[in-house]
Amino acid sequence: MRGVPAGRQTTLKDHVAVTGIGVHSGSPATLTLHPAEADTGIVFLRCGVDGKPDRELNAHYRSVTATEFATVLGDHNGPAVSTTEHVLAALHGLGVDNAVIEVDGPEVPIMDGSAEPFVAAIDQAGIVATAAARRYIQVLKPVRVAKGDSYGELRPHLRGLRIETEIEFDHPLIGRQAFAMDVEPDLFRRELARARTFGFMRDVSKLWSAGYALGASFENTVVIAENRVLNPEGVRFADEFVRHKAVDAIGDLALSGAPLLGAYRSVRGGHKLNHAVLTALMADRSAWAYVEMPETRRPRGHADLPAAFTSPAYGPDVS
Ligand SMILES: [Zn+2]
Repeated sequence: MRGVPAGRQTTLKDHVAVTGIGVHSGSPATLTLHPAEADTGIVFLRCGVDGKPDRELNAHYRSVTATEFATVLGDHNGPAVSTTEHVLAALHGLGVDNAVIEVDGPEVPIMDGSAEPFVAAIDQAGIVATAAARRYIQVLKPVRVAKGDSYGELRPHLRGLRIETEIEFDHPLIGRQAFAMDVEPDLFRRELARARTFGFMRDVSKLWSAGYALGASFENTVVIAENRVLNPEGVRFADEFVRHKAVDAIGDLALSGAPLLGAYRSVRGGHKLNHAVLTALMADRSAWAYVEMPETRRPRGHADLPAAFTSPAYGPDVS
């Protein structure tokens, strides 16, 4: 990402593929990242279904069909591709605006449970700027969704996307953990990309009988028992769990369709809450605006911005 101007849309220089199994389905799949033209956004291409045409799905919050344990995208024909969040987090975390994600199975491969293998793939392909200006979604006022003792909130934040996650589990290894970071490529690589999916041993039989976690193993999930992590290598960060929640949130918020200028706070949240907050933001047309960021400087506050920068630059695409 270094050397790529902040105000211009990016894509990949080349295509690159990774292969693995889905953590929930256990199904093998190859995921291929392809370059795409400016203004394409991120598009999933689900192929390899016997006798059926390929399905194209915008990586968009309106394409979400399920949020139980993973974010699933689909259309009127039903779900098409599951566990989209980690590859989307890697693309968004590294600042890739346009790409086609081809998947030949029902689920994005889980790889090692983190976003790092997708970061490595993107680095292998390379990132290149296009001639087109990048369009951001600027959060103009706080939007909050609460459910029980969980809540999520997007609020104005002009420096880009900021993520604040907090979790609380009644478990001696986790308890309460909080993490906060302004999302930019170097920090994403260093602080978030390697944080893995986690799960509790006590939930395994329930998950399996519901058809989830069929591909989960020590290779792709931090497995937590009564008072220890069962993986022989232990954890990658002392607070790997809350960092992974931040990865999930970045991936889920990437379904906005354009990079957010806003701060997202999630307390005891998950995919369902991330999706609900993003949907609530976009449904309130007074809560956001499309803006372009000047190439020469990053905004620090409203006072720095030309008037045109804070007014909607494009017509609404949400009614
Ligand atoms: Zn995750």
